[in-house]
Amino acid sequence: MKRDVGYWMRAAADMILPRVCVVCGRRLLLQEKHICLGCAVDMPFTRFETMSHNPMADRFNEVIQRHLVADDVSNGDPQSHERYAYASALFLYKEDSGYKKIPYQIKYHGNLAVGRHFGHMLGRRLSESEMFRDVDMVIPVPLHQLRRWKRGYNQAEVIAEEIAAAFGVPLRTDILVRKRRTQTQTQLSIAEKAANVAGAFGVADRAKSLYGVGSYDNSSLPTWPKHILLIDDVFTTGSTLGECFMALRTVFPPEVRISVATLAFVGGT
Ligand SMILES: [Zn+2]
Repeated sequence: MKRDVGYWMRAAADMILPRVCVVCGRRLLLQEKHICLGCAVDMPFTRFETMSHNPMADRFNEVIQRHLVADDVSNGDPQSHERYAYASALFLYKEDSGYKKIPYQIKYHGNLAVGRHFGHMLGRRLSESEMFRDVDMVIPVPLHQLRRWKRGYNQAEVIAEEIAAAFGVPLRTDILVRKRRTQTQTQLSIAEKAANVAGAFGVADRAKSLYGVGSYDNSSLPTWPKHILLIDDVFTTGSTLGECFMALRTVFPPEVRISVATLAFVGGT
């Protein structure tokens, strides 16, 4: 077996601080990274990247439709020209499962290496998917500046970086902005979650002047993306990603497809 420098560095580090599986807590073997072989084999992949219609996409498109109905009452065309949005997650998140520790480790323990590891895994699957193949811009759900400063990183951005790298496309953190701080969503009901993030996102002024629905011309402006992929760590009700989607729609017309992807999908809510 060929053993690289990383292997020997891990061997040395293991003697000082043993590495453990992020899911089951068992001590890792030298060739294992972040997750033990048993947990990697049993990982509850959603395989949503192979199905245009799946429970996550259905839930997300319902959120979008609710927004369109609420916003478009004046012109009486709630459907507008919005296509069914694609949505995918790496794995299924259950309350009683060890896999829920993956997003938890990234968000609350600053384990960015875990974020990069699973972000890379998700990115590879998405870039090989028929639906996501033409993604040409990746945008993470932004944190409020103050929260990002306090935490030192944005977990969605860590994941999004790996996804953009897998696609070989730009990661854009200068388009979508968080206009106000919101409560942590975990303890809120579905309705409270929606109210909590309502109007929380917007588009940066510079992006507004660069793009803008009125100035869209598919043929003459190479800077226009064809397919934007919005990234977050966990998908629960879809209210946060729905808000981001609608904010982007204020500058990107329906010709620009906007899809969503997360590490985890919380089923059965
Ligand atoms: Zn394990």
